[in-house]
Amino acid sequence: METKKFEDLEISPEILRAIQDMGFEEATPIQTQSISIVKSGKDVLGQSQTGTGKTAAFGIPTLEMVDEDSKNLQALVLCPTRELAIQVSEEFRKLLKYKEGIKALPIYGGQPIERQILALRKGVQIVIGTPGRVIDHMKRRTLKMDDVKMIVLDEADEMLDMGFREDIEEILQKMPEDHQTVLFSATMPKAIIDLTHDYLKDPVTVKVMPKELTVPLIDQVYFEVREHNKTEALSRLLDMYNPELAIVFCNTKKKVDELVEKLQSRGYFAEGLHGDLKQNQRDSVMKKFRNRTLEILVATDVAARGIDVDDIDIVINYDLPQDEEQYIHRIGRTGRAGRSGTAYTFIVGREIYKLRDIMRYTKAKIMRQNLPTIHDIEEVKIKNFAEKIKTTIQDERLTKYINIVENIVREDFDTLDIAAALLMLSLKDDYEVAEDINEAPWGDRYNDRQSGGYNKGYNNNNNRYGNNRYNNRYNGDGHNRDNNYSRRSQDLNSERLFLNIGKKHRVRPQDIVGAIANEANVSGRIIGGIDIYEDFTFVDVPKDYVEEIISKMKNTKFKGTNLNIEVAKSKRNGR
Ligand code: ADP
Ligand code: MG
Repeated sequence: METKKFEDLEISPEILRAIQDMGFEEATPIQTQSISIVKSGKDVLGQSQTGTGKTAAFGIPTLEMVDEDSKNLQALVLCPTRELAIQVSEEFRKLLKYKEGIKALPIYGGQPIERQILALRKGVQIVIGTPGRVIDHMKRRTLKMDDVKMIVLDEADEMLDMGFREDIEEILQKMPEDHQTVLFSATMPKAIIDLTHDYLKDPVTVKVMPKELTVPLIDQVYFEVREHNKTEALSRLLDMYNPELAIVFCNTKKKVDELVEKLQSRGYFAEGLHGDLKQNQRDSVMKKFRNRTLEILVATDVAARGIDVDDIDIVINYDLPQDEEQYIHRIGRTGRAGRSGTAYTFIVGREIYKLRDIMRYTKAKIMRQNLPTIHDIEEVKIKNFAEKIKTTIQDERLTKYINIVENIVREDFDTLDIAAALLMLSLKDDYEVAEDINEAPWGDRYNDRQSGGYNKGYNNNNNRYGNNRYNNRYNGDGHNRDNNYSRRSQDLNSERLFLNIGKKHRVRPQDIVGAIANEANVSGRIIGGIDIYEDFTFVDVPKDYVEEIISKMKNTKFKGTNLNIEVAKSKRNGR
Protein backbone atom coordinates (compact mmCIF):
# COMPACT_ATOMS: atom_id res chain seq x y z
CA MET A 1 0.00 0.00 0.00
CA GLU A 2 1.32 3.31 -1.03
CA THR A 3 1.65 5.93 1.67
CA LYS A 4 2.45 9.61 1.38
CA LYS A 5 4.15 12.20 3.43
CA PHE A 6 1.79 14.64 5.12
CA GLU A 7 3.58 17.43 3.25
CA ASP A 8 2.19 16.03 0.01
CA LEU A 9 -1.43 16.04 1.16
CA GLU A 10 -2.18 19.76 0.88
CA ILE A 11 -2.46 20.35 4.58
CA SER A 12 -2.24 23.85 6.05
CA PRO A 13 1.12 24.80 7.59
CA GLU A 14 -0.29 25.11 11.14
CA ILE A 15 -1.72 21.62 11.12
CA LEU A 16 1.39 20.22 9.45
CA ARG A 17 3.46 21.64 12.26
CA ALA A 18 1.13 20.06 14.82
CA ILE A 19 1.41 16.71 13.05
CA GLN A 20 5.17 16.98 13.26
CA ASP A 21 4.91 17.71 16.98
CA MET A 22 2.77 14.61 17.36
CA GLY A 23 5.64 12.60 15.91
CA PHE A 24 3.80 11.18 12.92
CA GLU A 25 6.36 10.51 10.22
CA GLU A 26 4.07 9.77 7.33
CA ALA A 27 0.42 9.31 6.66
CA THR A 28 -1.03 5.85 7.15
CA PRO A 29 -2.69 4.21 4.11
CA ILE A 30 -6.21 5.22 5.16
CA GLN A 31 -4.99 8.77 5.76
CA THR A 32 -3.16 8.86 2.44
CA GLN A 33 -6.31 7.83 0.62
CA SER A 34 -8.96 9.74 2.56
CA ILE A 35 -7.64 13.16 3.46
CA SER A 36 -7.94 14.82 0.07
CA ILE A 37 -11.25 13.12 -0.79
CA VAL A 38 -12.87 14.18 2.47
CA LYS A 39 -11.45 17.65 1.88
CA SER A 40 -13.06 17.80 -1.55
CA GLY A 41 -16.46 17.83 0.18
CA LYS A 42 -17.70 14.49 -1.13
CA ASP A 43 -19.50 12.01 1.06
CA VAL A 44 -17.05 9.29 2.08
CA LEU A 45 -17.27 5.73 3.31
CA GLY A 46 -13.92 4.84 4.87
CA GLN A 47 -12.89 1.44 6.10
CA SER A 48 -9.70 0.27 7.73
CA GLN A 49 -8.99 -1.75 10.78
CA THR A 50 -8.61 -0.50 14.32
CA GLY A 51 -5.44 1.40 15.03
CA THR A 52 -4.74 2.57 11.52
CA GLY A 53 -5.29 6.26 12.17
CA LYS A 54 -8.86 6.84 11.08
CA THR A 55 -9.23 9.72 13.53
CA ALA A 56 -6.68 11.87 11.74
CA ALA A 57 -7.93 10.60 8.37
CA PHE A 58 -11.23 12.41 8.88
CA GLY A 59 -9.96 14.79 11.56
CA ILE A 60 -7.43 16.69 9.48
CA PRO A 61 -9.86 17.61 6.67
CA THR A 62 -12.58 18.35 9.23
CA LEU A 63 -10.38 20.86 10.99
CA GLU A 64 -9.28 22.33 7.67
CA MET A 65 -12.81 23.12 6.56
CA VAL A 66 -13.83 24.98 9.72
CA ASP A 67 -14.26 28.73 9.33
CA GLU A 68 -12.36 30.33 12.22
CA ASP A 69 -14.29 33.58 11.95
CA SER A 70 -17.57 31.97 12.84
CA LYS A 71 -18.18 30.67 16.34
CA ASN A 72 -21.11 28.51 15.25
CA LEU A 73 -21.11 24.76 15.26
CA GLN A 74 -19.77 23.58 11.90
CA ALA A 75 -18.80 19.95 12.33
CA LEU A 76 -20.31 17.15 14.36
CA VAL A 77 -18.49 13.89 15.07
CA LEU A 78 -20.47 11.01 16.52
CA CYS A 79 -18.63 8.35 18.53
CA PRO A 80 -19.94 5.21 20.23
CA THR A 81 -18.53 5.76 23.71
CA ARG A 82 -17.45 8.47 26.06
CA GLU A 83 -13.88 7.09 25.98
CA LEU A 84 -13.73 7.38 22.22
CA ALA A 85 -15.27 10.84 22.20
CA ILE A 86 -12.58 11.99 24.60
CA GLN A 87 -9.83 10.34 22.58
CA VAL A 88 -10.99 11.89 19.35
CA SER A 89 -11.24 15.32 20.91
CA GLU A 90 -7.77 14.95 22.38
CA GLU A 91 -6.38 14.07 18.98
CA PHE A 92 -8.22 17.10 17.55
CA ARG A 93 -6.76 19.35 20.22
CA LYS A 94 -3.28 18.19 19.39
CA LEU A 95 -3.89 18.82 15.70
CA LEU A 96 -5.27 22.26 16.59
CA LYS A 97 -2.21 23.25 18.60
CA TYR A 98 -1.38 26.09 16.23
CA LYS A 99 -4.96 26.97 15.31
CA GLU A 100 -6.16 28.81 18.35
CA GLY A 101 -9.32 30.10 16.74
CA ILE A 102 -10.89 26.66 16.49
CA LYS A 103 -12.47 24.95 19.47
CA ALA A 104 -13.47 21.32 19.71
CA LEU A 105 -15.53 19.96 22.60
CA PRO A 106 -16.43 16.41 23.61
CA ILE A 107 -19.95 15.91 24.99
CA TYR A 108 -21.18 12.66 26.40
CA GLY A 109 -23.57 11.18 28.89
CA GLY A 110 -22.50 10.97 32.49
CA GLN A 111 -21.09 14.47 32.63
CA PRO A 112 -23.36 17.18 34.07
CA ILE A 113 -25.25 18.66 31.15
CA GLU A 114 -25.11 22.18 32.63
CA ARG A 115 -21.35 22.19 32.42
CA GLN A 116 -21.55 21.17 28.75
CA ILE A 117 -24.11 23.89 28.08
CA LEU A 118 -21.78 26.51 29.57
CA ALA A 119 -18.90 25.26 27.47
CA LEU A 120 -21.02 25.22 24.31
CA ARG A 121 -22.14 28.79 24.91
CA LYS A 122 -18.57 30.01 24.64
CA GLY A 123 -18.65 29.07 20.97
CA VAL A 124 -17.48 25.71 19.73
CA GLN A 125 -17.06 24.92 16.04
CA ILE A 126 -16.64 21.18 16.43
CA VAL A 127 -18.52 18.87 18.74
CA ILE A 128 -17.50 15.28 19.31
CA GLY A 129 -20.30 13.49 21.03
CA THR A 130 -22.12 10.29 21.80
CA PRO A 131 -25.47 10.07 19.97
CA GLY A 132 -27.75 10.12 23.02
CA ARG A 133 -26.23 13.22 24.53
CA VAL A 134 -26.10 15.00 21.18
CA ILE A 135 -29.85 14.47 20.77
CA ASP A 136 -30.35 15.75 24.29
CA HIS A 137 -28.59 18.98 23.41
CA MET A 138 -30.41 19.28 20.09
CA LYS A 139 -33.72 19.09 21.91
CA ARG A 140 -32.63 21.76 24.35
CA ARG A 141 -31.47 23.87 21.43
CA THR A 142 -28.06 24.09 23.08
CA LEU A 143 -26.67 22.50 19.93
CA LYS A 144 -27.79 24.20 16.75
CA MET A 145 -27.28 22.35 13.52
CA ASP A 146 -28.03 25.27 11.14
CA ASP A 147 -24.41 25.90 10.19
CA VAL A 148 -23.19 22.33 10.33
CA LYS A 149 -21.40 21.51 7.09
CA MET A 150 -20.10 18.11 8.00
CA ILE A 151 -21.11 15.15 10.09
CA VAL A 152 -18.74 12.26 10.81
CA LEU A 153 -19.88 8.86 12.02
CA ASP A 154 -16.76 7.47 13.66
CA GLU A 155 -16.51 3.76 14.46
CA ALA A 156 -19.89 3.37 12.79
CA ASP A 157 -19.98 -0.41 13.18
CA GLU A 158 -19.64 -0.09 16.91
CA MET A 159 -22.31 2.57 17.13
CA LEU A 160 -24.72 0.27 15.34
CA ASP A 161 -23.69 -2.69 17.49
CA MET A 162 -24.45 -0.63 20.53
CA GLY A 163 -27.97 0.11 19.36
CA PHE A 164 -27.50 3.72 18.30
CA ARG A 165 -29.08 3.29 14.89
CA GLU A 166 -32.29 5.21 15.66
CA ASP A 167 -30.42 8.00 17.40
CA ILE A 168 -28.03 8.30 14.48
CA GLU A 169 -30.87 8.45 11.99
CA GLU A 170 -32.64 11.06 14.07
CA ILE A 171 -29.51 13.21 14.05
CA LEU A 172 -28.88 12.69 10.34
CA GLN A 173 -32.43 13.77 9.57
CA LYS A 174 -31.87 17.06 11.39
CA MET A 175 -28.82 17.95 9.34
CA PRO A 176 -29.11 21.01 7.10
CA GLU A 177 -29.87 20.32 3.43
CA ASP A 178 -26.37 21.01 2.20
CA HIS A 179 -23.93 19.05 4.28
CA GLN A 180 -21.22 16.45 3.88
CA THR A 181 -21.53 13.03 5.53
CA VAL A 182 -18.44 10.98 6.32
CA LEU A 183 -18.54 7.52 7.80
CA PHE A 184 -15.56 5.62 9.14
CA SER A 185 -15.60 2.10 10.38
CA ALA A 186 -13.32 -0.87 10.94
CA THR A 187 -15.84 -3.22 9.37
CA MET A 188 -18.69 -2.78 6.90
CA PRO A 189 -21.59 -4.96 7.97
CA LYS A 190 -24.83 -4.79 6.01
CA ALA A 191 -26.44 -2.45 8.52
CA ILE A 192 -23.88 0.20 7.62
CA ILE A 193 -24.36 -0.25 3.90
CA ASP A 194 -28.12 0.20 4.45
CA LEU A 195 -27.53 3.37 6.40
CA THR A 196 -25.26 4.64 3.66
CA HIS A 197 -27.90 4.07 0.99
CA ASP A 198 -30.35 6.18 2.94
CA TYR A 199 -28.13 9.02 4.06
CA LEU A 200 -25.03 9.37 1.90
CA LYS A 201 -24.96 11.04 -1.52
CA ASP A 202 -22.84 9.14 -4.07
CA PRO A 203 -20.28 8.26 -1.46
CA VAL A 204 -16.69 7.54 -2.42
CA THR A 205 -15.53 4.34 -0.81
CA VAL A 206 -12.03 4.24 0.60
CA LYS A 207 -11.05 0.84 1.79
CA VAL A 208 -7.76 -0.41 3.15
CA MET A 209 -7.75 -4.16 3.50
CA PRO A 210 -6.66 -5.46 6.87
CA LYS A 211 -4.38 -8.00 5.28
CA GLU A 212 -1.84 -5.43 4.28
CA LEU A 213 -1.73 -4.02 7.75
CA THR A 214 -2.06 -6.83 10.21
CA VAL A 215 -0.02 -9.56 8.72
CA PRO A 216 3.44 -8.07 8.58
CA LEU A 217 3.27 -6.43 11.98
CA ILE A 218 1.50 -8.89 14.19
CA ASP A 219 2.74 -12.38 14.87
CA GLN A 220 -0.28 -14.58 15.25
CA VAL A 221 -0.02 -17.80 17.16
CA TYR A 222 -2.48 -20.30 18.54
CA PHE A 223 -2.25 -22.95 21.23
CA GLU A 224 -4.48 -25.94 21.68
CA VAL A 225 -5.42 -26.21 25.32
CA ARG A 226 -8.14 -27.63 27.49
CA GLU A 227 -10.60 -25.27 29.05
CA HIS A 228 -9.41 -26.05 32.57
CA ASN A 229 -5.80 -25.46 31.62
CA LYS A 230 -6.28 -21.99 30.21
CA THR A 231 -5.25 -20.07 33.29
CA GLU A 232 -2.10 -22.09 33.59
CA ALA A 233 -1.41 -21.64 29.89
CA LEU A 234 -1.90 -17.91 30.24
CA SER A 235 0.42 -17.72 33.24
CA ARG A 236 3.09 -19.46 31.29
CA LEU A 237 2.86 -17.08 28.39
CA LEU A 238 2.99 -14.13 30.74
CA ASP A 239 6.03 -15.57 32.55
CA MET A 240 7.77 -16.49 29.36
CA TYR A 241 7.27 -13.27 27.44
CA ASN A 242 6.98 -10.88 30.33
CA PRO A 243 4.88 -8.28 28.48
CA GLU A 244 4.80 -4.73 29.73
CA LEU A 245 1.23 -4.32 28.59
CA ALA A 246 -1.09 -7.14 27.64
CA ILE A 247 -4.79 -7.34 26.93
CA VAL A 248 -6.56 -10.61 27.57
CA PHE A 249 -9.97 -11.02 25.95
CA CYS A 250 -12.75 -13.09 27.47
CA ASN A 251 -16.18 -13.59 25.94
CA THR A 252 -18.22 -12.79 29.05
CA LYS A 253 -18.12 -10.38 31.96
CA LYS A 254 -18.28 -13.26 34.37
CA LYS A 255 -15.20 -14.82 32.85
CA VAL A 256 -13.37 -11.52 33.06
CA ASP A 257 -14.06 -11.35 36.80
CA GLU A 258 -13.08 -14.95 37.36
CA LEU A 259 -9.88 -14.69 35.42
CA VAL A 260 -8.85 -11.45 37.11
CA GLU A 261 -9.26 -13.13 40.47
CA LYS A 262 -7.18 -16.11 39.41
CA LEU A 263 -4.43 -13.94 37.96
CA GLN A 264 -4.32 -11.73 41.02
CA SER A 265 -4.05 -14.74 43.27
CA ARG A 266 -1.13 -15.84 41.15
CA GLY A 267 0.57 -12.55 41.76
CA TYR A 268 0.00 -10.76 38.46
CA PHE A 269 -0.92 -7.12 38.18
CA ALA A 270 -4.21 -7.73 36.45
CA GLU A 271 -7.54 -5.94 36.42
CA GLY A 272 -10.75 -6.31 34.51
CA LEU A 273 -12.70 -3.99 32.26
CA HIS A 274 -16.30 -4.65 31.34
CA GLY A 275 -19.64 -2.99 30.96
CA ASP A 276 -20.84 -3.64 34.49
CA LEU A 277 -18.18 -1.42 35.98
CA LYS A 278 -19.03 2.14 36.86
CA GLN A 279 -17.50 4.78 34.68
CA ASN A 280 -15.13 5.96 37.40
CA GLN A 281 -13.94 2.38 37.95
CA ARG A 282 -13.27 2.02 34.26
CA ASP A 283 -11.43 5.30 34.20
CA SER A 284 -9.26 4.27 37.09
CA VAL A 285 -8.41 0.92 35.47
CA MET A 286 -7.54 2.64 32.20
CA LYS A 287 -5.41 5.18 33.99
CA LYS A 288 -3.40 2.45 35.69
CA PHE A 289 -3.00 0.65 32.38
CA ARG A 290 -1.78 3.81 30.67
CA ASN A 291 0.79 4.62 33.29
CA ARG A 292 1.94 1.04 33.53
CA THR A 293 1.02 0.25 37.11
CA LEU A 294 -1.24 -2.35 35.57
CA GLU A 295 0.32 -4.91 33.24
CA ILE A 296 -2.58 -7.07 32.29
CA LEU A 297 -5.98 -5.85 31.30
CA VAL A 298 -8.66 -8.50 31.09
CA ALA A 299 -11.54 -7.23 29.01
CA THR A 300 -14.67 -8.02 27.09
CA ASP A 301 -14.92 -6.83 23.51
CA VAL A 302 -17.35 -4.04 24.20
CA ALA A 303 -15.33 -2.69 27.12
CA ALA A 304 -12.10 -2.79 25.11
CA ARG A 305 -13.55 -0.64 22.36
CA GLY A 306 -12.49 2.58 23.93
CA ILE A 307 -8.95 1.52 24.57
CA ASP A 308 -6.37 3.59 22.81
CA VAL A 309 -3.04 2.52 24.17
CA ASP A 310 -0.31 2.11 21.63
CA ASP A 311 2.42 -0.04 23.04
CA ILE A 312 0.47 -3.16 23.86
CA ASP A 313 2.93 -6.02 23.39
CA ILE A 314 0.52 -8.88 23.32
CA VAL A 315 -3.13 -9.59 22.88
CA ILE A 316 -4.37 -12.90 24.16
CA ASN A 317 -7.64 -14.41 23.03
CA TYR A 318 -8.32 -16.35 26.19
CA ASP A 319 -11.63 -17.23 24.56
CA LEU A 320 -11.82 -17.57 20.82
CA PRO A 321 -13.63 -14.51 19.43
CA GLN A 322 -17.13 -14.96 18.09
CA ASP A 323 -16.25 -14.17 14.50
CA GLU A 324 -13.57 -13.01 12.13
CA GLU A 325 -14.29 -9.35 12.53
CA GLN A 326 -14.05 -9.54 16.26
CA TYR A 327 -10.73 -11.31 15.84
CA ILE A 328 -9.40 -8.48 13.72
CA HIS A 329 -10.69 -5.92 16.17
CA ARG A 330 -8.99 -7.65 19.03
CA ILE A 331 -5.61 -8.27 17.54
CA GLY A 332 -5.63 -4.73 16.17
CA ARG A 333 -5.02 -3.57 19.74
CA THR A 334 -1.42 -4.58 19.36
CA GLY A 335 1.02 -3.77 16.58
CA ARG A 336 -0.41 -0.28 16.36
CA ALA A 337 1.12 2.63 14.55
CA GLY A 338 3.85 0.57 12.99
CA ARG A 339 4.97 -1.26 16.10
CA SER A 340 5.24 -5.00 16.25
CA GLY A 341 3.05 -7.15 18.43
CA THR A 342 1.93 -10.67 19.04
CA ALA A 343 -1.54 -12.15 19.22
CA TYR A 344 -2.03 -15.46 21.01
CA THR A 345 -5.23 -17.46 20.73
CA PHE A 346 -6.33 -20.38 22.85
CA ILE A 347 -8.22 -23.11 21.04
CA VAL A 348 -10.26 -25.77 22.75
CA GLY A 349 -11.16 -28.87 20.78
CA ARG A 350 -13.49 -28.17 17.88
CA GLU A 351 -12.81 -24.46 17.95
CA ILE A 352 -9.98 -25.25 15.59
CA TYR A 353 -12.53 -25.25 12.75
CA LYS A 354 -13.64 -21.77 13.64
CA LEU A 355 -10.03 -20.67 13.72
CA ARG A 356 -9.56 -22.04 10.22
CA ASP A 357 -12.48 -19.87 9.10
CA ILE A 358 -10.81 -16.88 10.68
CA MET A 359 -7.58 -17.66 8.88
CA ARG A 360 -9.39 -17.99 5.58
CA TYR A 361 -11.17 -14.70 6.06
CA THR A 362 -8.25 -12.68 7.31
CA LYS A 363 -5.79 -14.44 5.00
CA ALA A 364 -3.53 -14.45 8.01
CA LYS A 365 -1.15 -17.19 8.93
CA ILE A 366 -1.88 -18.13 12.50
CA MET A 367 0.81 -20.56 13.53
CA ARG A 368 0.35 -23.44 15.90
CA GLN A 369 2.81 -23.47 18.75
CA ASN A 370 3.47 -25.39 21.91
CA LEU A 371 3.17 -23.60 25.19
CA PRO A 372 6.45 -22.95 26.90
CA THR A 373 7.36 -25.69 29.36
CA ILE A 374 8.21 -25.02 33.00
CA HIS A 375 11.75 -25.73 31.93
CA ASP A 376 11.65 -23.01 29.26
CA ILE A 377 10.31 -20.55 31.76
CA GLU A 378 12.97 -21.46 34.28
CA GLU A 379 15.60 -20.80 31.67
CA VAL A 380 14.17 -17.38 30.95
CA LYS A 381 14.03 -16.60 34.65
CA ILE A 382 17.62 -17.64 35.11
CA LYS A 383 18.69 -15.56 32.15
CA ASN A 384 16.82 -12.53 33.45
CA PHE A 385 18.28 -13.03 36.86
CA ALA A 386 21.79 -13.21 35.45
CA GLU A 387 21.13 -9.93 33.64
CA LYS A 388 19.93 -8.39 36.87
CA ILE A 389 23.11 -9.47 38.61
CA LYS A 390 25.24 -7.92 35.89
CA THR A 391 23.46 -4.58 35.95
CA THR A 392 23.56 -4.55 39.74
CA ILE A 393 27.32 -5.01 39.64
CA GLN A 394 27.61 -2.17 37.14
CA ASP A 395 25.17 0.28 38.65
CA GLU A 396 25.04 -0.20 42.40
CA ARG A 397 27.39 0.55 45.26
CA LEU A 398 28.21 -2.84 46.66
CA THR A 399 30.88 -2.04 49.27
CA LYS A 400 28.71 -3.04 52.20
CA TYR A 401 27.92 -6.38 50.62
CA ILE A 402 31.47 -7.01 49.49
CA ASN A 403 32.48 -6.71 53.14
CA ILE A 404 29.99 -9.39 54.07
CA VAL A 405 31.33 -11.70 51.39
CA GLU A 406 34.89 -11.03 52.57
CA ASN A 407 33.93 -12.13 56.05
CA ILE A 408 32.62 -15.41 54.71
CA VAL A 409 35.71 -15.91 52.57
CA ARG A 410 37.88 -15.44 55.66
CA GLU A 411 36.16 -18.47 57.11
CA ASP A 412 37.71 -20.36 54.24
CA PHE A 413 34.84 -20.45 51.77
CA ASP A 414 35.29 -20.08 48.06
CA THR A 415 33.73 -17.01 46.39
CA LEU A 416 32.37 -19.14 43.58
CA ASP A 417 30.61 -21.37 46.10
CA ILE A 418 29.22 -18.35 47.89
CA ALA A 419 27.86 -16.92 44.67
CA ALA A 420 26.32 -20.24 43.69
CA ALA A 421 24.68 -20.64 47.09
CA LEU A 422 23.19 -17.15 46.87
CA LEU A 423 21.89 -17.90 43.43
CA MET A 424 20.31 -21.07 44.64
CA LEU A 425 18.66 -19.30 47.52
CA SER A 426 17.17 -16.57 45.40
CA LEU A 427 16.11 -18.69 42.46
CA LYS A 428 14.81 -21.45 44.65
CA ASP A 429 12.53 -18.98 46.34
CA ASP A 430 11.24 -17.98 43.01
CA TYR A 431 10.31 -21.51 42.03
CA GLU A 432 8.65 -22.22 45.30
CA VAL A 433 6.45 -19.23 44.78
CA ALA A 434 5.63 -20.49 41.32
CA GLU A 435 4.70 -23.87 42.71
CA ASP A 436 2.56 -22.37 45.42
CA ILE A 437 0.62 -20.39 42.89
CA ASN A 438 -0.03 -23.49 40.85
CA GLU A 439 -1.37 -25.20 43.91
CA ALA A 440 -4.58 -23.20 43.53
CA PRO A 441 -7.42 -25.58 44.30
CA TRP A 442 -9.53 -25.56 41.23
CA GLY A 443 -10.75 -28.32 38.93
CA ASP A 444 -8.65 -31.19 37.76
CA ARG A 445 -5.40 -29.43 38.34
CA TYR A 446 -5.89 -29.88 42.06
CA ASN A 447 -6.28 -33.62 41.66
CA ASP A 448 -3.19 -33.78 39.55
CA ARG A 449 -1.27 -31.93 42.18
CA GLN A 450 -2.58 -34.16 44.93
CA SER A 451 -1.26 -37.18 43.15
CA GLY A 452 2.14 -35.56 43.12
CA GLY A 453 2.65 -35.02 39.42
CA TYR A 454 3.77 -31.47 38.88
CA ASN A 455 4.46 -32.09 35.28
CA LYS A 456 1.46 -34.08 34.33
CA GLY A 457 -1.43 -31.78 33.81
CA TYR A 458 0.64 -29.32 31.93
CA ASN A 459 1.95 -31.40 29.22
CA ASN A 460 -1.36 -31.90 27.56
CA ASN A 461 -0.59 -28.65 25.93
CA ASN A 462 2.85 -29.52 24.91
CA ASN A 463 2.37 -32.37 22.62
CA ARG A 464 3.78 -31.93 19.22
CA TYR A 465 1.52 -34.39 17.57
CA GLY A 466 -1.94 -32.96 17.96
CA ASN A 467 -3.07 -36.48 18.65
CA ASN A 468 -5.45 -36.93 21.47
CA ARG A 469 -4.45 -40.40 22.36
CA TYR A 470 -0.81 -39.45 22.48
CA ASN A 471 -1.79 -36.49 24.54
CA ASN A 472 -3.51 -38.45 27.21
CA ARG A 473 -0.51 -40.53 27.85
CA TYR A 474 0.76 -37.93 30.19
CA ASN A 475 -2.26 -38.37 32.38
CA GLY A 476 -1.90 -42.02 32.96
CA ASP A 477 -3.14 -41.81 36.52
CA GLY A 478 -6.68 -41.71 35.28
CA HIS A 479 -7.61 -38.39 36.81
CA ASN A 480 -8.30 -37.04 33.45
CA ARG A 481 -11.96 -37.32 32.62
CA ASP A 482 -11.63 -37.72 28.90
CA ASN A 483 -8.73 -40.07 29.01
CA ASN A 484 -9.50 -42.56 26.30
CA TYR A 485 -6.70 -44.80 27.41
CA SER A 486 -8.96 -46.71 29.68
CA ARG A 487 -7.63 -47.64 33.05
CA ARG A 488 -8.91 -51.16 32.86
CA SER A 489 -7.22 -52.10 29.62
CA GLN A 490 -4.08 -50.46 30.84
CA ASP A 491 -4.12 -52.54 33.98
CA LEU A 492 -4.56 -55.72 32.06
CA ASN A 493 -2.19 -55.13 29.19
CA SER A 494 0.39 -52.74 30.45
CA GLU A 495 3.22 -52.87 32.86
CA ARG A 496 4.51 -50.06 34.98
CA LEU A 497 8.23 -49.37 34.69
CA PHE A 498 10.36 -47.59 37.25
CA LEU A 499 13.13 -45.24 36.13
CA ASN A 500 15.65 -43.73 38.51
CA ILE A 501 15.39 -40.26 36.99
CA GLY A 502 12.89 -37.56 37.88
CA LYS A 503 12.18 -33.87 38.16
CA LYS A 504 15.50 -33.44 39.89
CA HIS A 505 17.13 -34.47 36.63
CA ARG A 506 14.89 -32.13 34.69
CA VAL A 507 13.04 -34.95 33.08
CA ARG A 508 10.06 -34.00 30.95
CA PRO A 509 7.51 -36.43 29.55
CA GLN A 510 8.76 -35.85 26.04
CA ASP A 511 12.27 -36.83 27.18
CA ILE A 512 10.95 -40.14 28.43
CA VAL A 513 9.02 -40.76 25.24
CA GLY A 514 12.03 -39.78 23.17
CA ALA A 515 14.44 -41.94 25.12
CA ILE A 516 12.27 -45.03 25.04
CA ALA A 517 11.32 -44.59 21.41
CA ASN A 518 14.91 -44.08 20.29
CA GLU A 519 16.78 -46.53 22.44
CA ALA A 520 14.31 -49.37 22.29
CA ASN A 521 13.29 -48.53 18.76
CA VAL A 522 9.57 -48.66 19.47
CA SER A 523 6.86 -46.22 18.47
CA GLY A 524 6.13 -43.43 20.92
CA ARG A 525 2.47 -44.33 20.60
CA ILE A 526 2.75 -47.45 22.68
CA ILE A 527 3.73 -45.49 25.77
CA GLY A 528 0.97 -44.97 28.31
CA GLY A 529 0.94 -42.85 31.44
CA ILE A 530 4.03 -41.06 32.62
CA ASP A 531 4.29 -39.92 36.24
CA ILE A 532 7.34 -37.87 37.04
CA TYR A 533 8.33 -37.47 40.68
CA GLU A 534 11.24 -35.69 42.28
CA ASP A 535 13.73 -38.61 42.11
CA PHE A 536 12.08 -41.14 39.84
CA THR A 537 9.49 -41.72 37.17
CA PHE A 538 6.87 -44.32 36.37
CA VAL A 539 5.97 -45.18 32.80
CA ASP A 540 3.23 -47.47 31.59
CA VAL A 541 4.10 -49.56 28.56
CA PRO A 542 2.38 -52.57 26.98
CA LYS A 543 3.50 -55.86 28.56
CA ASP A 544 4.74 -57.18 25.22
CA TYR A 545 7.39 -54.48 25.03
CA VAL A 546 8.68 -54.60 28.58
CA GLU A 547 11.59 -56.93 27.99
CA GLU A 548 12.73 -55.18 24.87
CA ILE A 549 12.64 -51.77 26.50
CA ILE A 550 14.42 -52.82 29.68
CA SER A 551 17.18 -54.67 27.86
CA LYS A 552 17.83 -51.80 25.44
CA MET A 553 17.71 -49.07 28.02
CA LYS A 554 19.70 -50.62 30.80
CA ASN A 555 23.16 -49.14 31.08
CA THR A 556 22.32 -46.12 28.99
CA LYS A 557 22.72 -42.62 30.32
CA PHE A 558 20.17 -39.88 30.75
CA LYS A 559 21.58 -36.38 31.06
CA GLY A 560 24.65 -37.82 32.72
CA THR A 561 22.86 -40.21 35.07
CA ASN A 562 23.30 -43.97 34.69
CA LEU A 563 19.86 -45.19 33.95
CA ASN A 564 18.22 -47.84 36.05
CA ILE A 565 15.00 -49.19 34.59
CA GLU A 566 12.95 -52.05 35.98
CA VAL A 567 9.41 -53.25 36.42
CA ALA A 568 7.84 -51.29 39.25
CA LYS A 569 7.34 -53.33 42.42
CA SER A 570 3.69 -52.43 42.81
CA LYS A 571 1.36 -50.52 40.58
CA ARG A 572 0.20 -48.50 43.52
CA ASN A 573 3.76 -47.44 44.18
CA GLY A 574 4.25 -43.82 44.96
CA ARG A 575 0.57 -42.91 44.98
P1 ADP B 1 -8.40 4.00 14.46
O1 ADP B 1 -9.46 5.03 14.67
O2 ADP B 1 -8.23 3.60 13.04
O3 ADP B 1 -8.59 2.81 15.35
P2 ADP B 1 -6.66 5.93 15.67
O4 ADP B 1 -7.06 7.11 14.90
O5 ADP B 1 -7.23 5.81 17.06
O6 ADP B 1 -6.98 4.61 14.87
O7 ADP B 1 -5.08 5.89 15.70
C1 ADP B 1 -4.35 4.90 16.40
C2 ADP B 1 -3.06 5.47 16.94
O8 ADP B 1 -2.15 5.74 15.88
C3 ADP B 1 -3.24 6.78 17.69
O9 ADP B 1 -2.44 6.75 18.85
C4 ADP B 1 -2.74 7.82 16.72
O10 ADP B 1 -2.24 8.94 17.40
C5 ADP B 1 -1.67 7.07 15.97
N1 ADP B 1 -1.46 7.56 14.60
C6 ADP B 1 -2.42 8.01 13.76
N2 ADP B 1 -1.86 8.37 12.58
C7 ADP B 1 -0.54 8.12 12.67
C8 ADP B 1 0.56 8.29 11.78
N3 ADP B 1 0.40 8.78 10.57
N4 ADP B 1 1.78 7.93 12.23
C9 ADP B 1 1.94 7.45 13.48
N5 ADP B 1 0.95 7.27 14.37
C10 ADP B 1 -0.29 7.59 13.97
MG1 MG C 1 -11.05 5.28 15.74
